[in-house]
Amino acid sequence: MDKKIPLSRPEITKKDRKAVENVLKTTSLSFGPKIKEFEKKMASYTKTKYAIAVNSGTSGLHLVIKSLGIKEKDEVITSSFSFIASSNCILFEKAKPVFVDIDEKTLCINADKIEEKITKKTKAILVVHVFGQTCKMDKIMKIARKHNLYVIEDACEAIGGMYKGKKSGTFKDAGVFAFYPNKQITTGEGGMIVTNNQKIAKLCKSMRNQGKDEKKEQLSYLRMGYNYRMSELNAALGVSQLERINEILKKREKAANLYNRILRKIEGIEIPYVADNVKMSWFVYAIRLNSNKFNKKDRDKIMKKLDKKGIVSKNYFPPIHLEPFYVDMFGYKRGDFPVTEKVSDLIIALPFYNNITREEIKYVCDNLKKNC
Ligand SMILES: *Cc1c(COP(=O)(O)O)cnc(C)c1O
Repeated sequence: MDKKIPLSRPEITKKDRKAVENVLKTTSLSFGPKIKEFEKKMASYTKTKYAIAVNSGTSGLHLVIKSLGIKEKDEVITSSFSFIASSNCILFEKAKPVFVDIDEKTLCINADKIEEKITKKTKAILVVHVFGQTCKMDKIMKIARKHNLYVIEDACEAIGGMYKGKKSGTFKDAGVFAFYPNKQITTGEGGMIVTNNQKIAKLCKSMRNQGKDEKKEQLSYLRMGYNYRMSELNAALGVSQLERINEILKKREKAANLYNRILRKIEGIEIPYVADNVKMSWFVYAIRLNSNKFNKKDRDKIMKKLDKKGIVSKNYFPPIHLEPFYVDMFGYKRGDFPVTEKVSDLIIALPFYNNITREEIKYVCDNLKKNC
């Protein structure tokens, strides 16, 4: 195979293109009917009362933090094995992300280790549904209720995923989805907040648009806000993609199943774990090398060898707590979150997208096999 196999690839159909083109023929390029339609359809898909479209998942998380009144000196419990945005959104409001190590199998926050990190300053638990696996939400909800904490779900990787039949992002105060081109559905850039809480919805809606009084036609600003608006072009693409979400999730599941069938036979490779109560929404396909046989250097070497064969892979995720500015700010060091670090050292995200072919998957697996 002489072509390159990318890590991810958005699937844009003729209908998607048409939907965007149709917006370009109108005079409403922002804040028109498409954003309303996208929000309505996301609320209906997630069975929530309110959905608020924004220009990225990060913006959505920031607005949720802000709408809950989380501020300087407050603490938010979260995990370090994530995309950096889930932790940065806490720093935006000068609050402190307090990391809890992850569960070695699900890669989500280890619910059994949350309570020991709760202090008087703790305001919320921000869970990350890593790689499309919804966290152990019943345990997390129990802890939140007992200690009177908000629960924010970073469901940016988990649209359509479920825990015990309930959709990711809909468990408590608010959930956020993202539509960057590597996500299950894309709007180019974009995000969506979902909530059943009218107050959160109202604040997020106002703050995405400079803090405007949304009830008034005339310009009147009630609070400080941002420009986190989603354009009509992005919203139209979102509507079109959301229409075939079930088909998209099925395609991805099929690709993951094929990877699983081939790779489970290779000694030294651990295939992704899916908890009993979880319906995966496959975001990436990430394998782990067996720690008895491999170390971080081996992993990096394997990734280089794949790259030479035209296969793009990624060390998803490096631990947030070891990123230089987190080390500077909080003095974290290696050893602080051993499970996160161990997983990060040995993980490889493989090429994964809606229309990845059988041949491409086999080619990736053959090359992995040769090097493991
Ligand atoms: C994609 C993603 C986000 C949001 O990313 P944006 O690029 O801002 O849309 C947040 N958290 C996680 C875990 C993500 O994977």
